[in-house]
Amino acid sequence: MQITELTPADGYEILHLCEDPKSDLRALISIHSTQHGPAAGGCRLLNYKTLEEAKIDVQRLSRGMTYKNRSADLPLGGGKAVIIGQHKSPEMMRSFGKFVNSLTGKYYTAEDVGISPCDMQIVAEETNFVAGLETGEFASGDPSPVTARGVFVCLQRAVEHRLGKSNLQDIRVAIQGLGHVGWHLAQLLHSAGAQLFVTDLNANIIDQAVDLFDTKAVALDDIYSVDADVFAPCALGAVLNSSTVPQLKVKVIAGAANNQLSTPAIGDELKRKNIFYAPDYVVNAGGIINVAMEILKCTDASFAQTRLEKMTDTLDQILALAESQDIGMHSAADRFVGAQLH
Ligand code: NAD
Repeated sequence: MQITELTPADGYEILHLCEDPKSDLRALISIHSTQHGPAAGGCRLLNYKTLEEAKIDVQRLSRGMTYKNRSADLPLGGGKAVIIGQHKSPEMMRSFGKFVNSLTGKYYTAEDVGISPCDMQIVAEETNFVAGLETGEFASGDPSPVTARGVFVCLQRAVEHRLGKSNLQDIRVAIQGLGHVGWHLAQLLHSAGAQLFVTDLNANIIDQAVDLFDTKAVALDDIYSVDADVFAPCALGAVLNSSTVPQLKVKVIAGAANNQLSTPAIGDELKRKNIFYAPDYVVNAGGIINVAMEILKCTDASFAQTRLEKMTDTLDQILALAESQDIGMHSAADRFVGAQLH
């Protein structure tokens, strides 16, 4: 296994590349900041076309984690890992665990897209700097239900602000991605009386959702133009871009995906279109709140509950700032959270 220290982008602390031909592991860990505590953020498995593309993504994601952890008032910094490829194996996960361990606690990993709690259990054979485990004294399990709960409460608050409705009865929500988070979110929305439109690469999941939640299945590319009130991106990032935003008919965007805006200018465009954009890292912080309890070895259930409840207050404060300064919600979130970074 070879670990190479790469030069991170300005403002970032660490960027390491690990290559292990034996286990087929090629992975990057980016630490954006450890100013408020050890960096924490999930590990993503994705088939990046180039190393450069993976470097850009892992750094963007790690910066997002700094902002997310601050917005959720956690004593943690921001970091992220990506494994470049399509397939994983127990050997690869063990090798990744050694990579995480090489950072001696500056970075804690957990699951993200393409990585499951079972994978993290294998990672834990090689390092203690791992969370989102299903067994162990402080194990917090799959963070996705808590992430979905956070998205749900923020989505509800955004609907209240933009549509003046205090409940979600008959509110039409288009969900992109019914994976770990999207599925739980669909359950919560269905229970609250919302009408759902869903899309996913996985046709089986869609069939199950149609059966269980009485949803309408939508083709992958048609999800943007659905005649709905809310768009909930719960798949991958950069889905709000110059080709998708002109198609949107919704009044609210609130979803779990990280880095939803392809560029900040897209956030400005959402403001021009009078779409209430609930900033991704604010609304999807539920998972890291859950994971933080494991990292901090906290058993007080009110730790998570208090912070989940605070998420809607944070959203209110960001909205107030956006309105008072006549800026988009994305900029207001960065200013609001950025002011608490130093
Ligand atoms: P996941 O891999 O379990 O689910 C993603 C789903 O999206 C899959 O079902 C996949 O088939 C689907 N998908 C992929 N590309 C798609 C496309 N183009 N159109 C429609 N569907 C597509 O991931 P997850 O854990 O549910 O996370 C979803 C998003 O939320 C990710 O961006 C992740 O980074 C973010 N997030 C997750 C958590 C968490 O607790 N899991 C926390 C914070 C943020």
